[in-house]
Amino acid sequence: MSTSHKLQLSKEDMRSFGYQVIDSIVEHFASERDKMPVTQASREEMDSIFNMESPEKPTHYQDVLDLVINKVLPNSNIVSHPKSFSFVPGPSNYVSVMADTLATGFNVFSGGWAASPAAAELEIVTMNWLLKLFKFPTKKGGGIFTSGGSMANLTALVTARRLRCGDDFSKAIIYMSDQAHSSNIKAIRVLGFKKEQVRIIPTDIEFKMAINKLKNAIAKDRLEGLTPFCIIASAGTTNTGTVDPLNEISKICKKEKLWFHIDGAYGGAAILSKKGNALLKGIEKADSLTIDPHKWLYQPYEMGCLLVRNHKWLSQTFSEKPEYLRDIEGNTSEINFYDHGIQLTRRFRALKFYMSLKTFGMGAFRKAIAYNIDLAENVEDLLRQSSNWEVVSPATLAVINFRYNPIGKSFSEKELDVLNQAISKKITESREALLVTTVLQNQIVLRMCLINPRTTIEDVKDTLQSCEKLVEGLY
Ligand SMILES: *Cc1c(COP(=O)(O)O)cnc(C)c1O
Repeated sequence: MSTSHKLQLSKEDMRSFGYQVIDSIVEHFASERDKMPVTQASREEMDSIFNMESPEKPTHYQDVLDLVINKVLPNSNIVSHPKSFSFVPGPSNYVSVMADTLATGFNVFSGGWAASPAAAELEIVTMNWLLKLFKFPTKKGGGIFTSGGSMANLTALVTARRLRCGDDFSKAIIYMSDQAHSSNIKAIRVLGFKKEQVRIIPTDIEFKMAINKLKNAIAKDRLEGLTPFCIIASAGTTNTGTVDPLNEISKICKKEKLWFHIDGAYGGAAILSKKGNALLKGIEKADSLTIDPHKWLYQPYEMGCLLVRNHKWLSQTFSEKPEYLRDIEGNTSEINFYDHGIQLTRRFRALKFYMSLKTFGMGAFRKAIAYNIDLAENVEDLLRQSSNWEVVSPATLAVINFRYNPIGKSFSEKELDVLNQAISKKITESREALLVTTVLQNQIVLRMCLINPRTTIEDVKDTLQSCEKLVEGLY
């Protein structure tokens, strides 16, 4: 082994190292179902394995790799496991994993055209696929791949503020519902807006932004001499999959001359299915739209995406070039993505999207998403037919919320909260399934997000049965 100051391994060592890495990844994909999705470890346990001074002397790569394969990787939840139901699962796919490996292996710089024309081209091409899919203007429209939905929302709000407020945003007001994702609040804070510049609009019984209350808030702000500036709608809230009334919000934005941002990080991808497409009507009217390929487009972390109606909005916001140079660049020209977003040095995210779509075909993605939506609806039927479970928020875009509430037991609301919290704790501690709670209208409920195309109805039945067994011992 050569571990000189050149930081190189011999060719044979590189191969042996690499083959072992690939073997372990392949084995991970192949044996996922036989593993437990949940890991729990304390800081003390982790410290006892890993904590050390920075190593001055070399260690054989084999020992380092063994430690990682045996101790690091197993100590993470398996978010692609068929029984990983919580938060937003990350089903991922092997082709994209290999694409990321190639992109990293060749360390492709995806900032500027000159450094890697093909990388820029693939970002332009895949972005155009997305623009078309979401019925955004394909000639004028544009976008950028980001690390995730949070960065896409941040990039959108920087752009909106730059175009609509310029330098003085002291009176600008932003509106979003009480179900909007916390990353939007974070972005607003990063941008230096004050808390008083955000209006949290209540939702109706279906968790949609209440339009009447939105209109009231805007009118009142105008009367007070403030400047309504942007509405953030959710296209699939993370909690319940609910889509805000996009067409109505779009009308308000037009009338009031407000920026229309849609956070579709959770649900946007559902446009690929018939049912999703119907629910997402109006998404094409956004000025800016966040989607998150590392969620429901089955990409490994990290990959988010921002689409905008006019690509110039991005260069007008992020380019440090003089005005006269900006306008000669178009969507048809050689784009430098460092001029379209926050990062200068960027990894080659488009490659995994390109390779996985090309390998499996768009049809496979359409089928997978339709399957996920149907699966959640089948779970809803299953729950309704059981005397133990109550559906709290029906299956919407592959999310369902429910709780244990057996017929004939007449538990109080407080007791139900305690029982459902206990179910989540017990099943997660058993490590068999990752199933956590959320709060909807003051009730503690269990939430399943079913975007893994390898999750079956049997996986869900098994999990519910285990939950029933665990809870029987509790009262
Ligand atoms: C997950 C999510 C985000 C944040 O995206 P990250 O990729 O986790 O940064 C934003 N909005 C919604 C609706 C989400 O579900």
